[in-house]
Amino acid sequence: MMAIGVLYEGGCKSERTYLQMTMKCYRGSCHCGAIAYEADIDLAQGTAKCNCTFCTKARSWKVFIKPTAFRLLSGGDAAVAYNKHPQASRKFFCRQCGIRTHEFGSAAYMGGEFVGVFVATLDDVDHSELAGAPVRYADGRNDNWANAPKDTAHL
Ligand SMILES: [Zn+2]
Repeated sequence: MMAIGVLYEGGCKSERTYLQMTMKCYRGSCHCGAIAYEADIDLAQGTAKCNCTFCTKARSWKVFIKPTAFRLLSGGDAAVAYNKHPQASRKFFCRQCGIRTHEFGSAAYMGGEFVGVFVATLDDVDHSELAGAPVRYADGRNDNWANAPKDTAHL
């Protein structure tokens, strides 16, 4: 099986205590359901959109979490990994339905290893939570990750 995450059995229903009230355990999946995961996410801490060459084509909308906050429930056999160059994060897609669910990356400015969860694949999120989540824009196309690009409405 491809290492697209640490297989985990337990689920959001198990007892879990969070320090911050806005931290929640979410379930997510690809469209056909082959890839499924759960993740501890605090949407109030902000989400991310970017104008890099990948995110523009994919219209990526992500939330970044630590690898320990991401638990794969199924789908290692269904996943295809993609990164254009070694520094780019590895994105995981379902080979059946084509939906990308998450990515693994590592960068000093991100505080080391991270998982990017594509928030559109969250299943049990209230849409008002997504609508109210802060969005931070990154000018990745110009390697200017800490700042927003001039145009963001198309991202
Ligand atoms: Zn699928």
